[in-house]
Amino acid sequence: MSINLSSTSTIGSREERLGSIAGYCGSLQDLNTRVRCGGLRERERCFTQSSSCQNMCCVGMLTKIRDVAVIYHSPSGCMAVAADALSQESKINKKRGTSYNTKILSTDMNESDTIFGAPDALYDIIIETYRRYKPNAIFVAASCVSGIIGEDLDAVTANAADALPIPVAPLHCEGFKSKLWASGFDAADHAVLTTLVKPPREKRNLIVFRNFNESARSDIEAIFKELGTDVQFVYSTCTVSDIAHLSEAKASVAICSTLGTYLGNGLQQQYGVPYIQTLNPIGIRGFEMWLRKIAQAIGAEEKAEEYIRRERSEWLPKIEEVKEKLSGLRVVIGMGGSFAYQVARVAEELGMRVVHIMSWHLDPQYDNGEKSCHLNFLAENAHEDYPVSVADQQNFEIISVLNHYKPDLYLSRHPGNTIWAIKQGIPAHFMVEEYTTFGYKRFYQYANVLLDLVTNRSFAQHLLARTKMPYSEWWYRQNYEKMYKEAEA
Ligand code: SF4
Repeated sequence: MSINLSSTSTIGSREERLGSIAGYCGSLQDLNTRVRCGGLRERERCFTQSSSCQNMCCVGMLTKIRDVAVIYHSPSGCMAVAADALSQESKINKKRGTSYNTKILSTDMNESDTIFGAPDALYDIIIETYRRYKPNAIFVAASCVSGIIGEDLDAVTANAADALPIPVAPLHCEGFKSKLWASGFDAADHAVLTTLVKPPREKRNLIVFRNFNESARSDIEAIFKELGTDVQFVYSTCTVSDIAHLSEAKASVAICSTLGTYLGNGLQQQYGVPYIQTLNPIGIRGFEMWLRKIAQAIGAEEKAEEYIRRERSEWLPKIEEVKEKLSGLRVVIGMGGSFAYQVARVAEELGMRVVHIMSWHLDPQYDNGEKSCHLNFLAENAHEDYPVSVADQQNFEIISVLNHYKPDLYLSRHPGNTIWAIKQGIPAHFMVEEYTTFGYKRFYQYANVLLDLVTNRSFAQHLLARTKMPYSEWWYRQNYEKMYKEAEA
């Protein structure tokens, strides 16, 4: 399988390229067998609550780049998340002491634009955006409306790029085209690879590190320094010029395999920058595999082993002490297509018993055709075969699963669903930070956070006592049973 970087045009959703799914109900071993041997298929829902849009993910990634502009070619409602994206990146840049002047705009398509199209207005808005803000690149994001009417973003952006001294690129991230928000990561990476990244002038002693919010930046810089290499974080705090030189790196790696696949494999395919595909660096086993694979790629194995020896001797005895107290706790996990299975591994490392995983989607393979290693790793090392469901953050299913198991803990990585666990009296942790369990020290701290949550349950108990859930006992019973009866059929 190869990535087509010959044009800026649409790249296909994850469903089309990777066979990714957002509907499955079964068990860990069954899912792993289907992924490895075939037989995995999408289970369509007859009812669905609202979910997330790939457009949001795509634009969210590109607004991390400093001093660019993103224009939504859409009704204004599509840019509801814009303020959040800008505020988050402003804070990250302020913390790092870098300037940040990225702008988000909308063409605010109306009824007339929807019927007749608005390519001329879009062109004028691109030119005016450059005149007013002088960004270093402009991206134009498609929406459901501009996608359905077939607005030719490729032609408009190509004309604008001819008229302006900066790259202008279309983003093919129409919300209706994919059920998976992760398709938006790929649409953003495709625009970056086809318009910003330039061929290498020289090879540099540099690792490209794809992550979300770089909150562990100083730790990672220290680790890479010890391995003898520099690191380029993408995309937060990056400039257009930093991105132009990504092709000069020795290798690239990501904090999350769902996030990293398109950029990593694209750099490898186009410029020979090896993409290190590994477990996410969370928990002990994930972190050590991640570090060893990076060290192998740059010839720093001895330095990595020395780092591991030193950190292990400091942290493992402390981790063992907390582990004893967490051992045997029953956990339900609800997270994205990679983190769900990786945090399950972390929970098992802490001696807890995972009883159900809900992942928001599943990628059976990545853009180089390789199967996802984290699912197989978990299936081979899990304490038993337990139920797994794939659902794009369907809260009514999450509530039903939680009510069925009544676990000691619910671990989630996305907003809006931990509250439903707490209302049922279940302590929950919203693991929004991707570095929560990165490396030994953070793994130890995370174990203590979980211990605090199960030791003092008063918040969840108080909320339970004062909350009337919208579902009846009858609904809970028939809903969970129906889900699994249909899965067996
Ligand atoms: S692109 Fe479509 S799904 Fe996404 S916010 Fe706009 S209308 Fe909604």
